[in-house]
Amino acid sequence: MTMEHSLVDEAPTQQQGSGVLSLVWIGGASCDGCTMAVLGAAEPGIEDLLLGRVPDAPPVTLLHPALALESGDAYRAELNRAAAGQLNPFLLILEGSVLDESLAGSGSFSRMGVDADGRPLTIAAWIDRLASQAEAVIAIGSCATWGGMPAAAGSPTGAMGLEDYLGRDFRSRADLPVINVPGCAPPGEAFVETLVYVWLHLARLVPLDLDDERRPRWLYNEPAHPLPPRVDYMPAQAYDVAHRPTVGCPVPRQGWMKGVGGCARVGGCCIGCTARDFADRYLALATPEAPPPSSPGG
Ligand code: SF4
Ligand code: SF4
Repeated sequence: MTMEHSLVDEAPTQQQGSGVLSLVWIGGASCDGCTMAVLGAAEPGIEDLLLGRVPDAPPVTLLHPALALESGDAYRAELNRAAAGQLNPFLLILEGSVLDESLAGSGSFSRMGVDADGRPLTIAAWIDRLASQAEAVIAIGSCATWGGMPAAAGSPTGAMGLEDYLGRDFRSRADLPVINVPGCAPPGEAFVETLVYVWLHLARLVPLDLDDERRPRWLYNEPAHPLPPRVDYMPAQAYDVAHRPTVGCPVPRQGWMKGVGGCARVGGCCIGCTARDFADRYLALATPEAPPPSSPGG
């Protein structure tokens, strides 16, 4: 693969504000499993970031819909500050896919608060408000990156990944594309590692090497198959050799937490969950006529 985005020379021209980095996490169509994965991270853990225990990482605050102490108007007030450019710098993190609200008729698929005129705000509307103000925009999980489970065949919601919603040409305030961390869920430690790398990049200390899927290259540069120890096991009734996932994934080598666990390390099969369209292509219940993968690196 070619180096899609090595950005050490394109880092932001200013380091703003109080020196505190805010993580603004919003949820689209999700099961919250990516949140659970990040809460399970241990080396480092998200709490290590919040408590300032990660060397060279800045003080970090987290605004998360399920973890925030504030609720209702008080919670949304922080989102409004971010949208108004008053929470600077911040990283926008999306968990879950973006729903096509034009398909929702007179209703909407997702809502979080109302605008100044009392009209409901959808998650897509919050993305519109927040993405352009963020130093970097990160999609966690296969729902947020490629559409994932909510975008499986037959979905009436038009669910899509963040890059499809914002456009391939989208750039954040720091001139970064949407950074994709796929997996259902991805390992929490890989995600925390990505956060630290993004910060170090914003501070002009390291390049941010993304592959052509805009994934952190160092996390996804090895195929899940045929790495050990037991990733080769796959139920014969669900897969054939031609459809075997050969996706890039950190789990077989990195494990799930502290090098322990992870589907492919505990005797489970690889369902190719980091790949585009994995739900239709690889899941055991996928339709037999589902098309084979077009890209082995997907
Ligand atoms: S990627 Fe998987 S774990 Fe994450 S929100 Fe979607 S379905 Fe849940
Ligand atoms: S090994 Fe396969 S199923 Fe497991 S997390 Fe990686 S891509 Fe997903």
